[in-house]
Amino acid sequence: MPLHLQTPYVRSPAASRRLGKDVLLKLDALQPSGSFKLRGVGAVCEARRAAGARRFVSSSGGNAGIAVAYAGRELGVPVLVVVPESTSARARDLIRLEGAELIVQGASWAEANTLAQSVIGSHDAFVHPFDEPLLWQGHSTMVDEMAAAGPKPDAVVLAVGGGGLLCGVLEGMARNGWGDVPVVAVETQGADCYARSVAQGRPFELPAISSIATSLGAKRPCDAAMAWVTRHEIENIVVSDAAAVAASLRFLDEHRILVEPACGAALAALDAESPALAAASRIAVIVCGGVTATVESLQALSSRDRVPGGG
Ligand SMILES: *Cc1c(COP(=O)(O)O)cnc(C)c1O
Repeated sequence: MPLHLQTPYVRSPAASRRLGKDVLLKLDALQPSGSFKLRGVGAVCEARRAAGARRFVSSSGGNAGIAVAYAGRELGVPVLVVVPESTSARARDLIRLEGAELIVQGASWAEANTLAQSVIGSHDAFVHPFDEPLLWQGHSTMVDEMAAAGPKPDAVVLAVGGGGLLCGVLEGMARNGWGDVPVVAVETQGADCYARSVAQGRPFELPAISSIATSLGAKRPCDAAMAWVTRHEIENIVVSDAAAVAASLRFLDEHRILVEPACGAALAALDAESPALAAASRIAVIVCGGVTATVESLQALSSRDRVPGGG
């Protein structure tokens, strides 16, 4: 049995009504670790344990680190997560609550990752958050579930950080005969390394991440995400942080499920200008989830975005 769950794939009455189209939601927010990351991370951790790994090491303070901590506890393998000081108290708690060892090191992820790499011993397995073929294979299982459950959509919408989710979904789509279905790849302004890379035709590295959607905060996309551009129709959309936060709050009201702005970005794209979505009558959205936001934090971000004095 894999570590992840088969998640519901349901029609959104509210979004379908609003768009006058069929909008289907793949609810990976319901994974036990709170995001789709468990699919790929679970597959990687199981394979590494079978190959003799005695400890899993991660340098992600977000949903990947939380998924590694969850997988390690389930598999009975100790986990070390090294995170930077910028990692929220909530994320640190969630990692510790899964029983993982947590080390806080450095101002940014680069420093935390340097320490994590330096402590990796011969019996340790480093689990990358987005750039690893076995991880993509794990993520791809969500498309098998979608294809088994319902008809082929006319477009698939998902959020992009480093591109691991994108690579997994595209792999699953190819396997299920969905190679002709366009993918709408969504990022937030200030975390839009993939859209910029595609526009320039080569990997573009953002100098810094200025978006609040921290789970999308890779400075450059993985090479495999770039390689897909010539093999599949991909439309890039960039939304504002404010739109992503508003979409998360609306999703909470409409579906009673709390998701991060990283996931809100994909939901916000439904309202964006998009030739692929305009041409579609059935749209599938990957509800990737995320546990590092709270209702309070979303509301605080939302009121910060409001124009002062604008009511
Ligand atoms: C990791 C993550 C993403 C982005 O996934 P990538 O594989 O890095 O592109 C999007 N949303 C959530 C909630 C995530 O945890």
